Amino acid sequence: MKAEVVRKNKKLKSATILLERHCSVRRTVEIVLDSWSFLILREAFFGVKRFDKFQSRLGIPRQTLSNRLKKMVQNGLLSTGTRDTGKGKQYYFTFRGKDLFSTMLSLMEFGDKWLAGDEPPPLRLIHTRCGKKCHPITVCGECKKPVTAFDVAYRDGAGAGYSPPETRPVKHRSSDPKVLQRIRPCSVARSLAIIGDRWSFLILREGWFGVRRFDEMRENLGIATNILADRLNRLVKAGVLRKVSYSATGDRFEYRFTRMGIDLYKPMLVMMAWGDKWLSDGNTPLRLRHRQCDHDFQAQVVCSECLEPLRVTDTDYTLTYTLDE
Ligand SMILES: [Zn+2]
Ligand SMILES: [Zn+2]
Repeated sequence: MKAEVVRKNKKLKSATILLERHCSVRRTVEIVLDSWSFLILREAFFGVKRFDKFQSRLGIPRQTLSNRLKKMVQNGLLSTGTRDTGKGKQYYFTFRGKDLFSTMLSLMEFGDKWLAGDEPPPLRLIHTRCGKKCHPITVCGECKKPVTAFDVAYRDGAGAGYSPPETRPVKHRSSDPKVLQRIRPCSVARSLAIIGDRWSFLILREGWFGVRRFDEMRENLGIATNILADRLNRLVKAGVLRKVSYSATGDRFEYRFTRMGIDLYKPMLVMMAWGDKWLSDGNTPLRLRHRQCDHDFQAQVVCSECLEPLRVTDTDYTLTYTLDE
């Protein structure tokens, strides 16, 4: 994988446009990482369906809410209807949208473990299928054993490759920690505040591909030196990366994942599974193999008690905080 990356870099250097790795995580993250979109999705998972309710819960400007909802309908995450009679237009999850529940749960697993501090996790889940209180765990879909970054091998899938980055709006939106923490304490929001910035996410992704050094990151990402330095500092401060000297003289450094950083790999895998399923037209960019069971696999989020996948329809919760309406 490393050799492949280096070879591509050579080509990349001589090209005038920056090329980007095909990546299902990236595609998923673009959807989830917009702060407002994330909050809307979260409230929808909490059962909110009406425009006014989204607005009062989130304190979001009407026009912003209207734009985001429209975009989410266009992206096929939500659909509109008047099913529950007499209440006017409502927003319902599509299958694609509902399937993002696993991504939320995996980010929650991470946030509960690493970012809740001394507080109890904000949400307690109840799996109505087995009837037990549980927490989400991210496992290999084949053998149901927890996956770690160490026992996953990669190879290119049918959709592998590089292409010019999609044209993006001039203003790069990224998650704003202040917006994310509105209304509810939330482990998912806390996790997104770390990976939610577009560059931070891309730096972490390079890390998963074995890229650890400043210059290599800069070349792969076409990122300005000062921005890269700033994001690396932030990731070190957040406890996700550590800066390690690798030269005898002690003046050259590389960035390695901490234990917490290694754990962040799990939500990445879950986002990848979602993107592979819904956004890659059957051409998976990357095939993953679980070394422990020697199967190609996708990550799955399951109930800690019965190991069945946690679905939005059979998962209930209690709040460990009070919500002011
Ligand atoms: Zn396995
Ligand atoms: Zn269960």
